Amino acid sequence: MEKPKFRTPSGMHDILPQEQVFYQKIYQAAEKIFNFYNFEKIDTPILEEAEIFSKGIGESTDIVEKEMYTLRTKGRDFLALRPEGTAPVVRAYIQHGFRTLSQPVKLWYFGPYFRYERPQAGRSRQFWQFGIEVLGEKSPVIDAQVILILFDVLEELGFENLILKINSIGDENCRPYYKKALLSFLRPQRTSLCSDCQNRLKVNPLRILDCKQEKCREIISGAPQIINYLCEECHRHFKEVLEFLDELKLPYILDPYLVRGLDYYTKTVFEIGIEPKEGESQVGSLAGGGRYDKLVKLLGGVDTPACGWAAGMERIIELMKLKKKKIFSPACPQVFLAQIGSLAKRKSLKILEEFRKEKIKIAESLAKDSLNAQLNRADRLGIKYVLILGQREAIEDKIIIRDMESGQQVTIKQNKLLKEIKKRLRIKK
Ligand SMILES: [Zn+2]
Ligand SMILES: [Zn+2]
Repeated sequence: MEKPKFRTPSGMHDILPQEQVFYQKIYQAAEKIFNFYNFEKIDTPILEEAEIFSKGIGESTDIVEKEMYTLRTKGRDFLALRPEGTAPVVRAYIQHGFRTLSQPVKLWYFGPYFRYERPQAGRSRQFWQFGIEVLGEKSPVIDAQVILILFDVLEELGFENLILKINSIGDENCRPYYKKALLSFLRPQRTSLCSDCQNRLKVNPLRILDCKQEKCREIISGAPQIINYLCEECHRHFKEVLEFLDELKLPYILDPYLVRGLDYYTKTVFEIGIEPKEGESQVGSLAGGGRYDKLVKLLGGVDTPACGWAAGMERIIELMKLKKKKIFSPACPQVFLAQIGSLAKRKSLKILEEFRKEKIKIAESLAKDSLNAQLNRADRLGIKYVLILGQREAIEDKIIIRDMESGQQVTIKQNKLLKEIKKRLRIKK
């Protein structure tokens, strides 16, 4: 193939027609669950003032420090392509006075996000996320419900053996004590840490717990655990969250070193993944989130507790493909009309209209004359039933229905066609 002059920017990808079905399926599954729990959808702009992210996510995080796409507009505004979904939703909550609505306010979103990451397998610079935020309620029952909804969505998509990793990272009362303990543990070993972590030691030691480098992981495995430093309030909150999870029989493991890469979390943090079967390798997390009781105030609003999560579409789709989950979208037709000869071609237009009126999807290749070419196309589309209108059938007002799976076919009168197809597709009425 000739090398094209223009390609997608590095790390960005087209979502081709054959991929769309995955996005549709995930959107529909998520929307169904969110609707049940009375969440309302919100769309925020792709660009925001960069400051909501530097303030909200934290100046010294990788996202803000290295991965944010920023630009200066002609009007001298400093904007960023949104790297995540929570800060924009919080900005909207404050801007539109949602505090005056009955609390909690429950919102969901679905859209593209941007991070300037090193291009590598599984990492995109434009990626898709969907998620929920519950604002205005501090009770631990919300943490548990938010987690339950995450399980619901992933189970709706057919995932099994889901496992939650959960931790509490305390709040402004108790975290400073933990930071101190962590620092006095890490400082004597600083030269053994990776260069990033040596830097983190100065600006944000908690992030060291997140490091993926082998030598850092080894040191961390002996580090003090934040759970032992929680104040009474944080301890009680975490205990209650876990009790709710027990009650719901949701499988979780306590991960004392789970911190997540954003500064705004307080108390509960969690990630969800799939428990590897024997011989399978561990896959990264599908979604993660937590409580962020200080973010609304940090962005200029009134002190408002909140909790939420975001899920990564690319990772979920990758797994759906890996598990070879059969995805049938209602958007995909299951019937195909093939025709041979000019009389059949003319009659085909009328038959297609009848299907349209009955709202039954039907595909065709009217411009093609060869039956083989038409059958090949039907095969590629994964069609269940092909209708064949040959010269003889066209004259006799008949049509052939071929079941593409079994290869069996029957010839019926054309005026019985819709009824027969509805029966086979189990369409009521
Ligand atoms: Zn490190
Ligand atoms: Zn605390």
